[in-house]
Amino acid sequence: MQQVIVSMPVRTKDKFLIFGSPRIEQDEIDEVVASMETGWLGTGPKVARFEKDFSAYVGAPYSAACNSCTAALHLSLVALGLEPGDEVITTPLTFCASVNAIIHAGCTPVLADVDPLTQNIDPASIRDKITDRTRAILPVHFAGRSCDMDPIMDIASEHGLKVVEDCAHAIETIYKGRHAGTFGDFGCFSFYVTKNICTGEGGMVVAAGEDAIRHVKVLGLHGMSADAWKRFSDEGYKHYQVVEAGFKYNMMDIQAAIGIHQLKRIDDYFLRRCEIWDAYNAAFADLPIGLPAPEEPNTRHARHLYTIMVDPEQCGVERDDFLVRITREGIGVGVHYMSIPEQPYYRDRFGWELEDTPNATRLGRQTVSLPLSAKLTDADVADVIEAVKRSLGL
Ligand SMILES: *Cc1c(COP(=O)(O)O)cnc(C)c1O
Repeated sequence: MQQVIVSMPVRTKDKFLIFGSPRIEQDEIDEVVASMETGWLGTGPKVARFEKDFSAYVGAPYSAACNSCTAALHLSLVALGLEPGDEVITTPLTFCASVNAIIHAGCTPVLADVDPLTQNIDPASIRDKITDRTRAILPVHFAGRSCDMDPIMDIASEHGLKVVEDCAHAIETIYKGRHAGTFGDFGCFSFYVTKNICTGEGGMVVAAGEDAIRHVKVLGLHGMSADAWKRFSDEGYKHYQVVEAGFKYNMMDIQAAIGIHQLKRIDDYFLRRCEIWDAYNAAFADLPIGLPAPEEPNTRHARHLYTIMVDPEQCGVERDDFLVRITREGIGVGVHYMSIPEQPYYRDRFGWELEDTPNATRLGRQTVSLPLSAKLTDADVADVIEAVKRSLGL
């Protein structure tokens, strides 16, 4: 019989430190209450304002709010008009949502390996995976580090491929003066609770073209040509028209109410995560673990995930043992990610082998994400540092 280990965290000072806990302040609370008092809970003026503010922040002319980044990715791929059997190249070191969106758009995902240092999709590996069915590339700006967009966009233009950027980690990410999400046909962002700013659940599609975003909005609301807000305004009754089979992916005003105020504080939160990042770098410099590579020149890393590499050959501790130990120390951690071919569904359906993308396999088996939320106090950061050392037996 399998033994079940039940143990209390030994962290005595405080409660268990939850990984990715968001910072929510009074302005969000007041704005949500105000939405509830007006009775306008669904998609309305606050969503419109959040879209406008977000567009201004990332420097993308148009944006469409939706109820998750998963929805944003799905809508973007459908809006590209890809056909069954079309291949979309992405990274194996990502959340399953990136790959599921490709599958639900009716396309075939193809995995390129990652660069061992940046952990981002390797442009040379993208080239190796191109076939005559390849139609798009879906790069993920992993942990908040920008993918190398120049070679990726060069490959795309040489082969006539579309590009959808998964910016779930990358709201603040900049590459050569431009925000992540503004290079491809579409950029998709997440406001899930653990992300750099949050709306509970929520996402955004950005694009340079007004028609492209209008199409995304129609697809995101049942395929109806006019949205509910306009239909019931005092301009008079207007019949809606269903122009294609859409989805139900719209953001609510009570979500946007949170997002509007989170976005105002994005720079403060970013600076706080930079301080925590630097404290970890200094504390771990001499430990037998791998640390995040320095940020590339001419880029800004969004500091979404601080990932250490626990290699048993280097530090004598298995990664999974480390996860158990640090959790027992009262520190919540994450794994971003076991590589996609580790998941049974994809292995069975696509026949992917772990050795086809060896860098992602190795990273996925060594990586641990430490808490990096702007909510952490200096005492929390000190506790994380202490817990890392103890979990390594130091
Ligand atoms: C969180 C995440 C998503 C999905 O975001 P949701 O808003 O939760 O749907 C997609 N891709 C990556 C890389 C993520 O980390």
